[in-house]
Amino acid sequence: MRLLLIGPPGCGKGTQGARIAERYAVEHIAAGDILRAEVAAETALGRQIAGYISAGALVPDDVILDVVVPKVLAAAKADGYVLDGFPRTIRQAAAARRIAEEHASAVRCAIYMEVPQEELVARLLRRAEIEGRSDDKPDVIRHRLEVFTEATAPLIDFYGERGLLDVVDATLAPDEVTEQILTALPALVRARPVAS
Ligand code: ADP
Repeated sequence: MRLLLIGPPGCGKGTQGARIAERYAVEHIAAGDILRAEVAAETALGRQIAGYISAGALVPDDVILDVVVPKVLAAAKADGYVLDGFPRTIRQAAAARRIAEEHASAVRCAIYMEVPQEELVARLLRRAEIEGRSDDKPDVIRHRLEVFTEATAPLIDFYGERGLLDVVDATLAPDEVTEQILTALPALVRARPVAS
């Protein structure tokens, strides 16, 4: 299983990523968690990353590629992966694909977790009260949603055109979303990906 979950902030990628990875016994690689661990370690790179995260801006592609790609290749070499939060731009997707194809490790299927904007804002504001993340503030939330629409939503077509993508309704209860993803995956995995 080499799966990518695509979806806006608050769509539930983290929850579903962990569940699907467990079900297929593969690694769950969440780009945001990797970046927050770097921030928590208070490295020079971590301090640089913290600024982008708090502003709701994307961390530069080169930093992401350096930090995340080695983990993706290592997981692919083992049993596979569920990616959540990477790639998040077309440039990241194209670069990751180039590198991964050399190692037969490229994404085999992608799921777009669709949720309307108003519902996302409500969810993220609720989460802000529970988790206190530095980027769950109203103006930063709004900016993260804009960044998703501009930079990340084009990935839906990127993977769709390659025959690798299915869409699930992520407004449903978490168990129902998991069911939808698990139902969609076998056909996606069986489908022969068209050339990139
Ligand atoms: P969410 O999807 O709710 O925004 P994440 O934990 O996936 O939460 O990401 C939090 C932040 O980490 C993003 O707003 C961004 O600053 C940074 N980030 C995560 N993944 C990437 C990526 N692939 N490229 C650039 N920045 C990223």
